[in-house]
Amino acid sequence: MTLRFGREALSIPGPSVFPDRVLQAMQRPAPNIYEGEIVELTDTLHRDLQRVARTEGDSAIYVANGHGAWEVALANTLSPGDTVLVLASGTFAAGWGRMGEALGIKVETIDAGFRGAVDPAAVGARLVEDTSHTIKAVLVVQIDTASSVWNDIEAIGAAIRASGHPALFMVDCIASLGSVPYEMDAWGVDVTVAACQKGLMTPPGISFNFIGPRAWEARDRLDRVPSHWDWDLRCRSDIYYLQFGGTPPTHHLYALRAALDILLDEEGLEAAWRRHHVLATAVRACVERWCEGGPLELNIIEPRHRSDAVTTVLTNGVDATELRAHARDTYGLVLGLSIGMDGDGFRIGHMGHLNPPMLLGTLATTEASLRTLGIEHRSGIEAAVAVVADAAS
Ligand SMILES: *Cc1c(COP(=O)(O)O)cnc(C)c1O
Repeated sequence: MTLRFGREALSIPGPSVFPDRVLQAMQRPAPNIYEGEIVELTDTLHRDLQRVARTEGDSAIYVANGHGAWEVALANTLSPGDTVLVLASGTFAAGWGRMGEALGIKVETIDAGFRGAVDPAAVGARLVEDTSHTIKAVLVVQIDTASSVWNDIEAIGAAIRASGHPALFMVDCIASLGSVPYEMDAWGVDVTVAACQKGLMTPPGISFNFIGPRAWEARDRLDRVPSHWDWDLRCRSDIYYLQFGGTPPTHHLYALRAALDILLDEEGLEAAWRRHHVLATAVRACVERWCEGGPLELNIIEPRHRSDAVTTVLTNGVDATELRAHARDTYGLVLGLSIGMDGDGFRIGHMGHLNPPMLLGTLATTEASLRTLGIEHRSGIEAAVAVVADAAS
């Protein structure tokens, strides 16, 4: 029989679950987009986005998904023929690099593979070697949503600074901003790229660049920047309409306002980081038990590089597509599919608007699927419950 009923539980790593209040904030008529409330509301968004990224730099909002914000960052800092150093550790940094190649940028890669994190020392060593300063920027992802690796941005930033090399440091925080500690200015990041639909709990459609002073210098040195992507228009124009390169995404702005109220004022950013850490620790405790009894395996080998936003599980010969279909059709649970890897697997998203009943429900329902499909495992629920209960006591 099927027990699928009621609201489907979406446990994919983005879009994440949106708070009701965020959705309700969009249920309203369009505002005047030339003056008044929406203009003032947007000022508050910039202030609060900068608080989330921990930067005194500028923020720019784009009507685009994360891929769009990647291109924005490249188009405002680099020219055809420039070289970037891509620190690959899964799928997304390499994808960002390929987008650069389409813009005529040369890509050099340090590849940490699919199961490990970028080694900061290797980055420093490569930059020290580059005495002619051919490398113009270093591109990395804080949490790679495919592999679920968590790169140490602070350590990579320190290695770049210690090398004395002037390359810009550009970080993709699309999956991680709002969910895990991030300190753009303190860690020496020049450009941060983010999007609204993961830790920031807002329906997909807008994305962000955060811009530090060295990135502005790079922008101002360029001969030409595609006008619709230009940071200058977005951040320096007095005309509100031009700050969006056209009509602003009014309803996404209302939604983001509600989401940032929840994140910054109700819960608090650091409390949200702590909640994510507890819930992620519960996921890992549970999955580790599953692994002990059968074919499953955590993708990221080193425990300290397993992320607090998403967990990738390898199924090693077990058909993960069947497992996901079973969880969905029998129980109404949607797990993330594996992307960018050779073998088979699934992903559990645990970023954003997530609480213990939701997460424990996901874990227990996944375990029920392992059981009904006869996939060998030890039960992990007790371990997950213990993590949550210990954190609360
Ligand atoms: C989701 C994601 C992207 C892509 O964002 P889209 O909004 O789907 O274009 C890029 N990088 C990371 C780390 C992501 O998690």
